[in-house]
Amino acid sequence: MTTPQIQGWCPGAWQPMASGDGLVVRVRPPLSRLTAQQALLLAQLAQDHGCGLLELTSRANVQLRGIAPERHGAVLQTLAQQGLLDSDARTERLRNLVIDPLWQPGDGVLEMAQALQTALTQAQGLDTLPAKFGFSIASGRHVGLAQVAADVRLQPGAGTGWRVQAEGQAMAWQAASSGQAVDAALALARWCATQAHARRAQGLHPGRLASLLQAANHAALSNLPGLQHLGRHPTPAINNDAPPPGWQANLGLLVAAPLGRVTAAALARLASTHAGGLRLTPWRMLLVEGIDPAGAEAAGLDDAQHWMNSAADARLRVSACTGAPGCPQALAPTQALALELAPHVPEGAHLHVTGCAKGCARQQPATVTLRAESAQRFALVRQGRARDAAQAMLGKNQLRDNPGLLFEEI
Ligand code: SF4
Repeated sequence: MTTPQIQGWCPGAWQPMASGDGLVVRVRPPLSRLTAQQALLLAQLAQDHGCGLLELTSRANVQLRGIAPERHGAVLQTLAQQGLLDSDARTERLRNLVIDPLWQPGDGVLEMAQALQTALTQAQGLDTLPAKFGFSIASGRHVGLAQVAADVRLQPGAGTGWRVQAEGQAMAWQAASSGQAVDAALALARWCATQAHARRAQGLHPGRLASLLQAANHAALSNLPGLQHLGRHPTPAINNDAPPPGWQANLGLLVAAPLGRVTAAALARLASTHAGGLRLTPWRMLLVEGIDPAGAEAAGLDDAQHWMNSAADARLRVSACTGAPGCPQALAPTQALALELAPHVPEGAHLHVTGCAKGCARQQPATVTLRAESAQRFALVRQGRARDAAQAMLGKNQLRDNPGLLFEEI
């Protein structure tokens, strides 16, 4: 198994990442929502400057690929004109929050996200945070943010209160108001920034909040301004499942794109025929606000080549990273193979095809993982992650000729 290179940071718009096919420019729309006009603009940017595709990310962002370095400045300028660019790279990096895309008016999620976003922009003492430090804000009504990476998780508690939970901790701080919850979240972030700074000064990796807390003095931590006077209680178990695509009551249509990749043409058609907003989700789907069945057809959302509207679509059971040739670390192409094998993945199972052991497309275990070892050979991992030990080696042709091999034991 080849050891992949870990970048340790995520691309942004200000700080794109070089890849095998040009720059990856990740756009973080405010509150993870695009207006129809902004979506149209992104489709045009992907068409004019990128590879003609937009990737939905697991942090509810959207990224352009294949941007030539000399066009980056023009892309930034256009993003700024449409309100899709933070004032600077620092603000963009700190504004790393995933909100429950199924928020409803009055549930407090959007207000909390706005308050936290503003507080982060104004906060001091956060410059030394680990590069991927982030927050999640759940509605608590359902599902799906438990698998989303976050150092600090916020969720409504009793009455107007909020629970503030650090990753890896079974106990959460109980804040009586949203303001108290923001203060508590910032206190954890500042503490993490201080610890990370001290570790870097010793030549150590800054670590993440979860690992830093393992070695922490919790009594001292609870005395920090923002955390003192807050009670700590065990948190209830959270359902991990993301919702399937389909109609969401009072909200709109949740649609997925094959492997989370939307063609510029499909997005442009949607945005030019439906005036409502698009919410980005951490499940690599879009929530099309307020659309009705007739509107969905007019917007092309019934086109199975581009969109997936039903939980029965077998392509939802596969994930694949960029693979070769787009990623310089990839040992083989991944996406075509994943889509080819999708019809053979049984209901309830998941197939993850990865170009190397980093497993960018899926961090959690999959029923079967195929990890490229060379252009023609894949390691097969059952019930594991991309980096786990393989149970067998399979040739690409072997997989194509007899895909039933993969799920034989199920
Ligand atoms: S998992 Fe895929 S996209 Fe990520 S580094 Fe490896 S080959 Fe590249």
